[in-house]
Amino acid sequence: MLLKYLVPIAFVSLILVGCSLNKNKSKTASDTGTLKVVATNSIIADITKNIGKDRITLHSIVPVGKNPHEYEPLPKDIKKTAEADVIFYNGLNLETGGNAWFEKLVKNTKKKAGKDYFAVSDGVKTIYLNGQSKKGKEDPHAWLDLKNGIIYAKNIEKQLSAKDPKNKSFYRKNRRAYVKKLNVLHSKAKREFENIPADKKIIVTSEGCFKYFSRAYNIPSIYIWEINTEQEGTPRQLRKLIYRLKGSSIPALFVESSVDPRSMKTVSKDSGIPIYSELFTDSVAEKGQAGDSYYAMMKWNLDKIIAGLSQ
Ligand SMILES: [Zn+2]
Repeated sequence: MLLKYLVPIAFVSLILVGCSLNKNKSKTASDTGTLKVVATNSIIADITKNIGKDRITLHSIVPVGKNPHEYEPLPKDIKKTAEADVIFYNGLNLETGGNAWFEKLVKNTKKKAGKDYFAVSDGVKTIYLNGQSKKGKEDPHAWLDLKNGIIYAKNIEKQLSAKDPKNKSFYRKNRRAYVKKLNVLHSKAKREFENIPADKKIIVTSEGCFKYFSRAYNIPSIYIWEINTEQEGTPRQLRKLIYRLKGSSIPALFVESSVDPRSMKTVSKDSGIPIYSELFTDSVAEKGQAGDSYYAMMKWNLDKIIAGLSQ
């Protein structure tokens, strides 16, 4: 008799629990009115955050300080990508070079180019890897020129507005304020680089990631290896750079936060030129540290390069 009543009660309460769980679970970004956005790395995520602010829910895939050229997405990255309203990637042979992790990710989550995912570098004047000029051989590091960062911001605003038109004016206002800030930094850097003597004005890093930066600020750059998807720090690569540095007036070397510093330490020891500072090239800094946003990492890089080469 008792059992006869208990079973339905238990059943009903299970349903109730189920309903309330479901309710919480389904209260996702779309239901609360915020757009679900995925960015492939911390730099793109930060630019996106400056435009979308609290009107978007953002997931950044490659962790801070890690190499975005080659990556293995985690189950949470796959889930967030599958659920995303819009996905931003760099393009230009970054996430699609090396192990092509992004191509696999969007294929597995059935996302479509130009509908679900967009290259934020669209419209950038491409620089290719040394001696190459075909698709798949682009140098991806366009963001290291602030003017390209501005193109990224405009592309991101355009897609956020297209997916979420009710917040169009909010995104536009944020993009405008953000671009203004980037422009001020860009103009200041251009002026300051003009004062560095030509024989000292060369950036030396591990990866040859400064091509766009070099073009923007009229400062040559040399490196140990050209891109993080090739062999890094082979004896031949080291010898070539050390030979180039010996007898030069270059006062400082730099090492990127997202690469193994051992090769540059060898170059420093053998050339007698000190490593002046770490630079942020393929990732922003850890939250709370100097360089923890796109603006802050660019400001850090510009300040350190200008100070290091002005010695
Ligand atoms: Zn890189």
